[in-house]
Formats: sequence, structure tokens, C-alpha cells
Amino acid sequence: MPPTISRLIQALEPSATLAMAAKARELKASGRTIYDFSVGEPDFNTPAHICEAAIAAMREGHTHYTASSGVIELRTAIANRYRQVHGLEYSPLQVIVSNGAKHSLHNAFTVLCDPGDEVIIPAPYWVSYAELVKLASGKPVIVPTSEAEDFKLTPARFKAAITPKTKVLLLCSPSNPTGSMYSKDELAALADIVIEHNLTVISDEIYERLVYGNHKFTSFATVRPGLVDRVITINGVSKAYAMTGWRIGWSLAPPNIAKAMDSLQSQETTNASSVSQYAALAAIEGPQNCVDEMLVEFAKRREYVQKRIASLPKLSTCEMGGAFYAFINIQAHLGRTYNGAAVNNSAEWCLQLLSQQGVATVQGSAFGAEGYIRMSFATSMANIQHGFDKIEAFLNSPA
Ligand code: PMP
Ligand code: GLU
Repeated sequence: MPPTISRLIQALEPSATLAMAAKARELKASGRTIYDFSVGEPDFNTPAHICEAAIAAMREGHTHYTASSGVIELRTAIANRYRQVHGLEYSPLQVIVSNGAKHSLHNAFTVLCDPGDEVIIPAPYWVSYAELVKLASGKPVIVPTSEAEDFKLTPARFKAAITPKTKVLLLCSPSNPTGSMYSKDELAALADIVIEHNLTVISDEIYERLVYGNHKFTSFATVRPGLVDRVITINGVSKAYAMTGWRIGWSLAPPNIAKAMDSLQSQETTNASSVSQYAALAAIEGPQNCVDEMLVEFAKRREYVQKRIASLPKLSTCEMGGAFYAFINIQAHLGRTYNGAAVNNSAEWCLQLLSQQGVATVQGSAFGAEGYIRMSFATSMANIQHGFDKIEAFLNSPA
């Protein structure tokens, strides 16, 4: 008899984004041409000066364990950045460096949740939130939002979801998977309810630097005085600096939460990679034009994606203020056959789009919104152009 798997892990859903990316990779390896819009990671390589800093760190002997919460230079640089950019006062001791923002989120839920504590997650949501809450023995409470409201949590919906068990509100702006962004006033209206009900907020701000046009990013902790005492801000270098593989994320938290996260990490992972920490330090302290250059490219792609979606029949998206995703409404294209294959939901649509046209996207149901698909446009313009041609052909395919 093979060993049995714990009930906790049996109940865990694997990441749908990573699963679709793996499927696309497999098909590519088998020799098929695949246009991959599944995983959300910049297609750019990490800027050279960041790689050079990592090489220098290795040569200088930064190849040992570090403090479990990260090297003090990096924690100080992060605290300085929040002071300079957002006017938020954090001691470096309140900054905990982890193995990617996903790990920072895991720490936050684990440190906050007792069994049954409720975490409000507005849907559509990034695939990992609910599973990370369950792993931490909390209870995800999914609150739907609507495309007409740009997929933003309204104060009324938020209030209606609060129970005596509610502990945390999770926010992600700019949003994965929709690209939608909250304005300062919208965040302030939510903050008033948070304060009134004595809740904690986990604000996932990993797409802070990827903001388009007239949209303006607001860090949640800034919208009302005193919020730093009840907000855990999550961020990292993966998206802004094209550093997904380096695995560096962080949280800024009230002192007792930061201390608890540090203890947790000291037992679970010891520390994030020493070399990666020095690379992240170079990213934060070095020239920032690399971020702007990538943003210019993303902005061109976003514009093209919006144009193509608008030109195709009966597809729509919300206002994409930030991040690099289009969350496309495909409801009018369900309930029919495509070259003989019946397609009744977003998972079947994505599967047929991949097998018939070689285009990989992720089903909206994985993000808590049936009738949609997510397309990451963090890939080359040529891929995006070909991909949309294929989607157009798919939509026009005979029953
Ligand atoms: N939050 C959101 C909303 C994301 O899209 C991602 C990307 N995977 C993460 C957190 C985690 O980022 P990482 O672990 O690569 O730092
Ligand atoms: N955040 C990216 C995505 O949603 C990376 C993959 C993942 O971590 O889920 O596609």
C-alpha cells in the first residue's frame, strides 16, 4: 500500500495557471506550434545590471545562510522605498523577505488564521488565494463582483459578506486576473468598513509598477491614517523587474505579525536565496529605467489586445488599468460545438482552443468566474498577433 496523503493536501487544488503552462510546454516539446498566454510572467530577461549584482554577490561570498527575514540591506532598501514613494514609515524589522510573493502570502495567512477564521476574497481572484487560505486552516469566503463594476468589491457587497468570524479582507490591485484597479476613494470606502469591523487587510500589490495611461496606483495602507497597524502589504520583484525565477517577495506588516512571520520562516525555509536577495537589492536601488522600458512594451501590447478584443464579435473586458492580463467575457460563445466538439463552459473552451488552434489561455472558472478566460499578454507582440488570428479562426469555426 502506498502511503496515504493528508486530508489537508488531498483537498488542495493544484495551480490552474501553472497546470495550463505545463500543458502548453508539453505540446511545444512534442513539436506543435503553441501560442502561450497561460502563465503571467514577463517574457523579458532580468536586466543585466541585476544579474551582474548577483554574480558580484557570489564572488564576494554572499553564499551562506542569511537572517531568516532577509539581509538587513535589502529590508532597509524596501523600507526606504515605501517611505520615499508612498510616505509610509516602516522599520526594516517590519519587512520580511520571502521566497516570492506567493510565499509571503502563505506566511500572512498562516500567521493570521485560526481554524474557521474567514478571509473575504473578491472574485475573480488569483488562483492561489483560496488554496493558501485553506492550507492555513482558514475559510475562504468568495464574494462575487461584476464586469459592469470593473470587477471591484463594492462597500455594499463587502459589508454583506462580513460575519463575526471575518478576520481578513484580501485585495489585489492592479488585479490578477482582470487588470482592474481601485481608485484611492474606492479603497478609502473599503478601509472605513475595515476599521469599523476591526479587520485586517492583506493587500497584494505585486503589479504596482505595471500601471497604464491615466491610472494611478494607490497603496492601500496610505488611504486612512493608522492603517499600517492592520495592513499586510505584499510585493516583490517578480513582475516589475522580470525576476520570476529568482523567487524574492516581501511583506510589510505590523511588528507582531512580522515577528511571527520571521519565526515561521526560521522553521520552514531558513531564508530566501542569499544571491537572489542581493539581486533584488540591485533591482530596488539601481536604475529604474528598465521598469519603464518594459512598461512601454506592455502598454503597446495592452492597446493591441484591447483593439483585437473589440474587433471580435461578442467579446468584452473590463477597464484594464494595470498588470498584464485580459479577462475576456466569452459567454456568447459557449453552448455550441466547434468542429464537432461541444463546448459548454470556460474550461472546455480553453481546452478546445488549445487542441484545435494551439492557443493556451486559462479558464475563468479557475479564478472564480465562469464564462470568462484569462489571457496573459506578457509575451511577444508577434505571439499576440498570431494568437488573436487563431482565436478569430476558432470563433469562426464551423459547428
Ligand atoms: N500575487 C499575484 C496577484 C500574482 O499574480 C503572483 C504571480 N505569481 C504572485 C502574487 C506571486 O508572485 P511571486 O511568487 O512570483 O513573487
Ligand atoms: N501569477 C502568475 C499567474 O497567475 C504566475 C503563475 C502562478 O504563480 O500562478 O499566471
